[in-house]
Amino acid sequence: MNIGVLGGGQLARMMAQAGSSLGLNFMFLCPDSDACAAPYGEHLCAPYEDKHAQEHLAKWADVVTYEFENIPLSLVELLQQQIPLHPASSVLSLARDRLPEKLLFRTLGIPTAKFAPVDSLEMLINTLEDIALPAILKTRTQGYDGKGQALLRKESDLSAIWGEIGKVPCIVESMVEFRRELSIIAARNQKGDMVFYPVSENHHRDGILRLSISRQDDPMQVRAEAKIRSIMDNLSYVGVMTLELFQVGDQLFANELAPRVHNSGHWTIEAAETSQFENHLRAICGFPLGRTSSKQTTAMVNLIGSLPVEAEIRNIPDTSLHFYGKLKRPGRKVGHVTLTQSDGSPDEFNQRLAALLQLAGEAELSSKTFLNPTPLTQCS
Ligand code: AMP
Repeated sequence: MNIGVLGGGQLARMMAQAGSSLGLNFMFLCPDSDACAAPYGEHLCAPYEDKHAQEHLAKWADVVTYEFENIPLSLVELLQQQIPLHPASSVLSLARDRLPEKLLFRTLGIPTAKFAPVDSLEMLINTLEDIALPAILKTRTQGYDGKGQALLRKESDLSAIWGEIGKVPCIVESMVEFRRELSIIAARNQKGDMVFYPVSENHHRDGILRLSISRQDDPMQVRAEAKIRSIMDNLSYVGVMTLELFQVGDQLFANELAPRVHNSGHWTIEAAETSQFENHLRAICGFPLGRTSSKQTTAMVNLIGSLPVEAEIRNIPDTSLHFYGKLKRPGRKVGHVTLTQSDGSPDEFNQRLAALLQLAGEAELSSKTFLNPTPLTQCS
């Protein structure tokens, strides 16, 4: 079976790596000449708008998917008229705009930060009668890895920040005092079958994900599953979806959804029975979904901007290295390392994780303890 992928970055690369054991072939439409997925299939190196490339992809592929949200919606709509494409263009259109996305959460009764749309400086100033400072201003589209957002601290900053953000349609959100940031990843096929991965606890710095931990029996699992289930069923979703959440007390607030495989799910390659990448392919191809359970606590550490010395990582037991083959640039995700708990004690896991975080340049995170001997209390 032939899979067309819009985008050719590391998510497309890991998808194709997973697809080889399913006997799938890949073609990537990606304008970057150094697309890191290219070694795993045919690379159509052309702008997304290129008619010839679009036609070639549509003729070759049995099914098309995408690896990120910032691709032209018109291309996804066009391809969808010609061949099966998942997740559907209606989902992409919703997920790439923070306003309809938040309105969907509201419709489904899923709590969120207080939010309001803002299209002008005047609207922004008026909104703050309802949403207290400090608050966050986010562009409705094109935001990722902390880009396209700004912290609003005091009224005198508003005009400058509105200019800096580009005077584009935005939403303002209240600051959420969260205990933890979590994400849940699930896969759904056309029959409506669903599987859920254990939730990941996520740690960011400068708006970029640095560390994800998936523990055994996270107390928020049942609540997180209920939320993503209602969203996926509502959208008749096909593929893998990720829902980013804030834990506030024992409540979960939805932050945003991603209609795709996600950085916080990279640990599933080593630790889950079926990886998020394989299950995405299974869902879009109409194959039975694979089991998602994981028997061990796992941590995933992103390598950002540079790669540590390989031998030093390998000296830490039970690590798996993933280098994406991308040119190193500040702030760019160039690889990740997965660390599994195996049979060791929580202390032993914490020590190995601290060593790995040090190598990845995460000094502050490396001083924290992530695995406690006593598990967190369950919430149902
Ligand atoms: P986002 O692009 O919406 O995923 O935001 C990037 C990061 O900013 C999140 O992972 C949080 O760490 C932080 N953040 C976003 N929105 C809020 C909020 N309303 N309250 C507190 N922190 C937030």
